Amino acid sequence: MRYPDDSPPVFTLTSGPVDAYPEVLRAMGATVLYDYDPAFQAFYEGVALKAQKAMGTETPPLILQGEPVLGLEAAAASLLAKDDVMLNLASGVYGKGFGYWAARYCREVLEIEVAYDEAIDPEAVRTFLGEHPDVSVVSVCHHDTPSGTINDIDAIGAVVAEADALLIVDAVSSFGGMPTSPDACKAGIYVSGPNKCMGCPPGLTLAAVSEAAWAKIEANPDAPFASMLSLKDWRNAWKRTEPFPFTPSVAEINGLDAALDRYLGEGPDAVWARHALTAAATRDGVRAMGLEIWPAREEIASPTTTAVKMPEGTDAGPILAEARARYGVTLSAGRGETDGKLIRIGHMGPTAQPMYALVAVAALGGALAANGVQVDIGKGLAATQARIDAG
Ligand SMILES: *Cc1c(COP(=O)(O)O)cnc(C)c1O
Repeated sequence: MRYPDDSPPVFTLTSGPVDAYPEVLRAMGATVLYDYDPAFQAFYEGVALKAQKAMGTETPPLILQGEPVLGLEAAAASLLAKDDVMLNLASGVYGKGFGYWAARYCREVLEIEVAYDEAIDPEAVRTFLGEHPDVSVVSVCHHDTPSGTINDIDAIGAVVAEADALLIVDAVSSFGGMPTSPDACKAGIYVSGPNKCMGCPPGLTLAAVSEAAWAKIEANPDAPFASMLSLKDWRNAWKRTEPFPFTPSVAEINGLDAALDRYLGEGPDAVWARHALTAAATRDGVRAMGLEIWPAREEIASPTTTAVKMPEGTDAGPILAEARARYGVTLSAGRGETDGKLIRIGHMGPTAQPMYALVAVAALGGALAANGVQVDIGKGLAATQARIDAG
């Protein structure tokens, strides 16, 4: 049997956007309150305080009204001044991409770039900052999703703090799926999105801003205000007594509230553990089938996305199409430099459940076999199940 392209897949095992939690979708169908109704203002404050608890910050994170690309560009626009020199750390497509936004707002963007199956060495950052004392802002992507690789942002954050610079972190596809917080990496601005590991549809950004970053933003004559790209506009909007800069996306806020309840109710440790186990079981199955993961080293493999390297001479496109048509399983392609070279299996929010690893390994193996690639699917599935059973 074949699953037609024009009807929805059975399994969406992508690396974002992900299928949303049912309770999030139900919450989004609730009554849309008027934003200045006192009940909504109190509710919004409550959501911001829950987000603060989830992120472990001193003040509530900003909830910006657009998926996280908005938050990332707003961070660049707000923090960087025309005379700033920024160091961009690029170990993948998103890390590299941040440098292009940053270039619009500052004097110079310097860069440390490594191969896209590798991670940034914090010692290299230390050396670089020693040689370039004019760097005032550093940016890094925590989980560069198109590569399925993780940067050690806590170690990088310590180095950046020592050099008295401010760190911008893209934690869009890591926060909520692994142990990470704005404080642990000493972030100036830490941008995440509820549409990845928190299991919401795309639509909002969560951005934690430190006191030091606020001081720089408030002193920055170029920081936007009365603008979609403004962080300043939202600084106090979480308080029920303060106005909103413009109408909040009420239904999205309802969904975020349900996602935060779910995350805090299940407990972050338990949530991270099921992400980690699903990824480990997937990696074991992939290797036992006779394939390799994309990250150069196991220690930098993401617990929220498994990137599988395509064998020499195999393009990812037809394999993805086959998995979709034959099994109704949607997986993610690479992006930019990694496009065609790998296939990504997402473990985010509702799909970070170990049994989905069996679905992903079976679909990937079957689609490769159908395209004439030799894989041992039975061995792969056995290894995945064994890892799940070992817990
Ligand atoms: C998903 C994601 C974003 C948001 O970008 P889109 O391309 O619009 O989905 C930003 N950074 C990272 C690391 C992401 O995974």
